[in-house]
Amino acid sequence: MDLKKHRNQTVKYEPYLNRLAAIFRKMDECYDETAGKYGFVCTGCEDSCCRTRFYHHTLIEYFYLKSGLESLSSADQVMIHSMALDANSQWKTQPAPGVMCPLNEAGRCRLYAHRPMICRLHGIPHELHHPQKSRYKGQGCHEFVIQCGGKSYISFDRTPLYQELADLEKSFRQETGLSVKMKMTIAEMLTILQTSIICVFLMLLG
Ligand code: SF4
Repeated sequence: MDLKKHRNQTVKYEPYLNRLAAIFRKMDECYDETAGKYGFVCTGCEDSCCRTRFYHHTLIEYFYLKSGLESLSSADQVMIHSMALDANSQWKTQPAPGVMCPLNEAGRCRLYAHRPMICRLHGIPHELHHPQKSRYKGQGCHEFVIQCGGKSYISFDRTPLYQELADLEKSFRQETGLSVKMKMTIAEMLTILQTSIICVFLMLLG
């Protein structure tokens, strides 16, 4: 299944995107509440999570990112597409300390409201409960350790949040019949989110 064929389906997928927006609001609330208890403030740092090569993205998040991208001007879309292509080639030659996400502009996310789940939850220590495995405990990021490394763990269970996203992804795939395997970085997603607007824009530029 070729994702490019589904470029123009964002409106049709809107009910699912709205459900995802509600899940994201809940994630943000849970994250903010726990980060607030620690007194942790994500201010941007050298070891930015926006340089991390995350692949933890779902198909519904791909379409959500797409809807955010389409809200930008066509000139910005073309620029981001070009930066994403550049980031993809940089990753081949300089895996460390990582390549900045093409959406990061001077420390700020250009599609903050549309950023994927992992961008929302990364940073503070967390736990995950898998029915067949023992409890997994994840560490805080580099900046968290600097600011709050000496503090006791405050429970932040990602399990129900992951479960809600997994349930939505499942019903989205069932309803749409989309079965594509997702293993893409944000930069890789952005390179295939080249909309028809961009095509027209590039044609105009000659
Ligand atoms: S989508 Fe935004 S928050 Fe996520 S890595 Fe890219 S710039 Fe950072």
